[in-house]
Amino acid sequence: MSRIVYVNGDYLPEEDAKISIFDRGFVMADSVYEVVSVLDGKLIDFDGHLVRLSRSLDALEIGNPLSDDAYLAMFRELVSRNDITDGMIYLQVTRGNPGDRDFAYPPAETPQTVVAFTQSKPGLADSPAARKGWSVVTLPDQRWGRRDIKTTQLLYPSMAKMAAKAKGADDAWLVEDGKVTEGTSNNVYIVKGNKIITRELSHDILHGITRAAVLRLAKEAQMQVEERGFTVEEAQDADEAFVTSASAFVMPVTEIDGAKIGAGTPGKTAARLREIYLDEMRRIAI
Ligand code: PMP
Repeated sequence: MSRIVYVNGDYLPEEDAKISIFDRGFVMADSVYEVVSVLDGKLIDFDGHLVRLSRSLDALEIGNPLSDDAYLAMFRELVSRNDITDGMIYLQVTRGNPGDRDFAYPPAETPQTVVAFTQSKPGLADSPAARKGWSVVTLPDQRWGRRDIKTTQLLYPSMAKMAAKAKGADDAWLVEDGKVTEGTSNNVYIVKGNKIITRELSHDILHGITRAAVLRLAKEAQMQVEERGFTVEEAQDADEAFVTSASAFVMPVTEIDGAKIGAGTPGKTAARLREIYLDEMRRIAI
């Protein structure tokens, strides 16, 4: 059975899904996206992702073509039609198809393009990588200056991921002005004593939905949180390191540029946060 995907109101087998070659998402990366995890057939932190979708669209003056209820119904339909137990839903909204290529935006009434598809990942939350931890290498951050908008301009993160893999690492941490910004597709943290340190929110990083939930839960569990940038050396010297994202949840980092972090095994703070996060998210999943 082929995967059923969503394109502008229709549910179609993936091989029948079609987008114009003039679509702004295709020729200009003029589009935004969200990735929502599915655990036990339910959506994880759906509301948080929709709030950010709307923020990304507003920042680019792209209209939001669907109501929150319509997105919810569509996501549930995709989960059901594709029989997803654990996995992800990818959603992309573009400025639409002006019928030709032009740097200027098309008129605001041009209908946006909306596509979504599922990715099945059985056992997503029970990842062997979470028991082992990731190794990362550092690279210069060469992305644009509005990383808080979740656009589909993902070429540099993709290049960085390949450079990391070529060095036998799991991911890259990006560095700008001497401080770590983010991973290729995750927010970064270090732990020193009983303090969790993570870069403050600004235009320099994506405002992770997982980050917001993890920091809230950490504070509720009486952990100390400090929001500030840190250097690679400080990270290599930390007791623990980890990253967060909607699909990796809380993932320990055990090596940075060849230096072992702490004992070189996943730390107890990361393990505890992963457990607290997954428990709470499963509890409030819809
Ligand atoms: N930073 C970047 C650059 C990302 O691509 C992602 C994942 N989309 C994140 C952080 C983590 O965000 P979230 O927790 O919302 O998945």
